Amino acid sequence: MLTAGEARRLVEQARSELVDLAKALVKVPTPNPPGQEEQAALILKAKFEAEGLKPELIQESEDRANIVVRLPGAGKAPALLYDGHLDTVGPGDESEWTDPPYSGSIKNGRLLGRGASDMKGGVAAEAMAAILAYRAGIELAGDLIIASTCGEETDNLGAYTLRNSGWLNGVAGIVIAEPSSNELLIAEKGALWVEITTFGRTSHGSAPHLGINAINKMLDLLADLRYFCPSSDKHPLLGEGTASLNVLNGGFKTNVVPDRCTAIFDIRTVPGRTHEDIITALKTELELAQTSDKDFRAEFKVVKDLPSVSTHEDNGLVRLAQTTGRELWDREPELKGISGYTDAAVLCPGTNIPFIIFGPGDMATAHQPNEYVELEKVVDATAYLLLLAAKWGN
Ligand SMILES: [Zn+2]
Repeated sequence: MLTAGEARRLVEQARSELVDLAKALVKVPTPNPPGQEEQAALILKAKFEAEGLKPELIQESEDRANIVVRLPGAGKAPALLYDGHLDTVGPGDESEWTDPPYSGSIKNGRLLGRGASDMKGGVAAEAMAAILAYRAGIELAGDLIIASTCGEETDNLGAYTLRNSGWLNGVAGIVIAEPSSNELLIAEKGALWVEITTFGRTSHGSAPHLGINAINKMLDLLADLRYFCPSSDKHPLLGEGTASLNVLNGGFKTNVVPDRCTAIFDIRTVPGRTHEDIITALKTELELAQTSDKDFRAEFKVVKDLPSVSTHEDNGLVRLAQTTGRELWDREPELKGISGYTDAAVLCPGTNIPFIIFGPGDMATAHQPNEYVELEKVVDATAYLLLLAAKWGN
């Protein structure tokens, strides 16, 4: 059985190889949209193949692909899945970066670049943990699957593919290496994105009484929704649900009364109130508006619907994750929640597979100019993931 000291030593010996891998991944731009994750997937494919492993490239489209590899276990335990995403958000205004966004430069022990924290540092840690386990001939109780997917930053494209292509069969634990600063995230908020469009009738701007102003109709509705609260309870790790109006579009010409106005809400939910219930409450507001105003006409559309997911702190995977931290660092990682969603929202509902989020990146630098990851954290995370895999099922 691998000890914490041995795990640390194996990673220490492969430190420069690990850093090179993380660096190579950061240097391949995969901003989503459009994604173009294939080049990053091919780096991992070559890396796994050089070890004698047989990765599977799952193509989504011409330049988009996921990469999955299975390390066979002894069949004494179910499989463990290490998941991560290859896409990043865009670099934003490049003049805000001190180094170019895909430089992959290393300064003061930090790897710089878009995706360093979210989450190519984590993807490199997962891949290297598997490679080191394989190279050292560590007997795994169950299969270890490493999946690096595309599309997480927009529509979780790769996670759906993973789920629908049978890769989750026999999996009883998922670790997602999203940025957690090497702490443990075991709950995440749900995301419900709702688009409401109000309709009116155009008329000349000098004769508004002849038309129906869709913006005014929207403003009436927004006044009613001002204090809409999506949660009934406070979750110990996630707090309360939130609703934020983040897009408002209406009107096209100064002298034309607008005939449509669209509002998009970003609603983040916590367990306790279902999305169905929230949708019903919002639709009721629209019906009430219609009852009190015969000219009110609106359309309601759900554009994203990912539930809140969580793993109980007494779950075996969480306990194993705690023990692993204790053995490696003499302390248990802190249990926390995350307000954003991850691929767990696609992989876990319905399959009921427990998940944890553990990765070397820092949420505070993710999606920001001058994103970076502390290399020491990447090294630590790799040792942690190696030890966790070795302990799984034993
Ligand atoms: Zn991410």
